[in-house]
Amino acid sequence: MDTLASGATVRPLISIVAPFYNEELGIVFFVEAIAKVMASCATDYDYEVVCVDDGSSDRTLELLQAVAAKDPRYTVVELSRNFGKEPALTAGIDTARGDCVVPIDADLQDPPELIITMLEKWREGYEVVLAKRADRSSDSYLKRVTAAGFYRFHNKLSKPKIPENVGDYRLMDRVVVDALKRLPETQRFMKGIFAWVGYKTTTVEYARQARHAGESKFTGWKLWNFAIEGITSFSIAPLKLWTYIGAIGAVLTILWAIFIAVRTILFGIDAPGYASLLAAMVFFGSLQLLSIGVLGAYIGRIYMESKGRPIYLIRKIHKQDE
Ligand code: UDP
Ligand code: MG
Repeated sequence: MDTLASGATVRPLISIVAPFYNEELGIVFFVEAIAKVMASCATDYDYEVVCVDDGSSDRTLELLQAVAAKDPRYTVVELSRNFGKEPALTAGIDTARGDCVVPIDADLQDPPELIITMLEKWREGYEVVLAKRADRSSDSYLKRVTAAGFYRFHNKLSKPKIPENVGDYRLMDRVVVDALKRLPETQRFMKGIFAWVGYKTTTVEYARQARHAGESKFTGWKLWNFAIEGITSFSIAPLKLWTYIGAIGAVLTILWAIFIAVRTILFGIDAPGYASLLAAMVFFGSLQLLSIGVLGAYIGRIYMESKGRPIYLIRKIHKQDE
């Protein structure tokens, strides 16, 4: 608790930020869970909840508005359409006014009780408190294996490393939030962006819960694209790789040519190698297409960034006293 010059005390304001996309079934549970947790530390902290409606097509917005109409601590940011989780989270973080900000999933897969532990760490002086999933048994086997593979691959290629099994659930001090705002990229790979800003960081562990209601919006293809986006946002290794593949190919080709020449001089020309020629052509043709594809992925990113479009658009902010 900070003491003002007048002698009065102000409680730090905690901003809880949650993106909502078609979560109508879970809203009551979410509101209840947050209220319960925050009531347990009400003497030390004030809180606000910033809910971002990411263009839901069900009754999510309506229900959130009803909550905000009753509870002045709730702000509902209504986006103009579905922008995706990362832009929605950015909208929420930009709107939050707290001394620290806690992004949390609306489906209660991130247990709100952990906020208390994170606040303790914050009090100890850490600027970032990561919530690490110690137990992911609620995720499918395939999701766990692919996630582990992704972290390993990404961290081999990119600096800074993103901590394994850490999602968006974390606590960030105001300095960190202000730093985040200085990263203007429109294609936001939040895990990478969070890791990039750094600051004094610690970790607390939790078991990832099963979804309270509704279904996951992240399916195989979406996760694959998400992984590609993560790697192309923070590493240019895939671009540089082709120089080496090309160089190795060139050296091998020269050795092969010398071998053929010597053999021809010594033994004359034998049967025409039609099949091997074709195989080599098709192989190198495919390699070229592949490398053009990698180039394309990066050029695509440059193109999208060069438009300088805003990350999200807000239709309206719903709040009791506005
Ligand atoms: N979400 C969002 N916009 C989207 C997809 C998801 O705001 O386009 C929100 C969703 O409402 C939830 C959070 O992002 O609060 C995580 O989504 P989900 O639970 O589907 O992902 P998972 O937990 O399976 O990774
Ligand atoms: Mg979820």
